[in-house]
Amino acid sequence: GSRTEVTFARRYRESLSTQTVLEAASLFDILADAGMLVLHSAYIVTRQGQGILFSGPSGIGKGTVCKELIQKDKSVVLSVSWTTRERRKGEEEGVTYFYRTEEQFDEMIAKGGFLEYAGIYGGRYGTPRDYVAQRMREGKNVVLEIETKGAMKVMEAEKDVISIYLLPPTMKVLRDRLINRGREGYEKAMQRFRCAYDEIDLARDYQYYIVNEQLNATVRSIMNILRGEYRNPDDLDGRIRRLKEEVSNDH
Ligand code: 5GP
Repeated sequence: GSRTEVTFARRYRESLSTQTVLEAASLFDILADAGMLVLHSAYIVTRQGQGILFSGPSGIGKGTVCKELIQKDKSVVLSVSWTTRERRKGEEEGVTYFYRTEEQFDEMIAKGGFLEYAGIYGGRYGTPRDYVAQRMREGKNVVLEIETKGAMKVMEAEKDVISIYLLPPTMKVLRDRLINRGREGYEKAMQRFRCAYDEIDLARDYQYYIVNEQLNATVRSIMNILRGEYRNPDDLDGRIRRLKEEVSNDH
């Protein structure tokens, strides 16, 4: 039969999605089996995925945004953390978290199994190093939806990571959400709100910030960030100041 020589150029690495490379590779396999193709020099490269840090105050709607993002962009998966906190209704082992005992958590720390870990709201949470590395090797963009202390550690350790902070349009929106979702009762919700007041200053330490006003717009912004096509809105300092003033004026 006819023989075709194919060279897989290195530059494909940048321009092809992992999926395309894999599809091309299996097509070439079929042709090669049929004796129609000789692979002259093949660089079958799977593109390493991106790590994406995703933070924002409790109640901002990180979970909802992540769920929507994962549905819209198939290259994105969520890193599943370990936690020692109790499982809530509707949560699933291995999907929302890996639920572990304090002892198991300590063991994981001892063997260096966490990329980072932190304690917050009475529970401990950690990002399993292998899980994230594995998904990134598969070419997935892995979202780490973690609180700020852990996020800072990851930023220090992994220079390539993309970091995004979600801000509320107003503090009233955030407070209403925290109270109305009724997850933890009024007192605890207000405690989280006070944490949020202090926390939003940290938006400055992230590469990107998004004002989470409308779910679809937020998801679109994140997808643009992944494509390198997003610019921060101006005046983050002014925005943070106005959010804080809003709360002070209430008292
Ligand atoms: P929740 O208990 O409401 O699911 O999460 C509480 C907080 O823990 C959230 O701010 C969440 O982002 C954070 N969190 C979840 N997983 C991790 C993790 O692996 N590491 C760190 N540092 N924080 C996490």
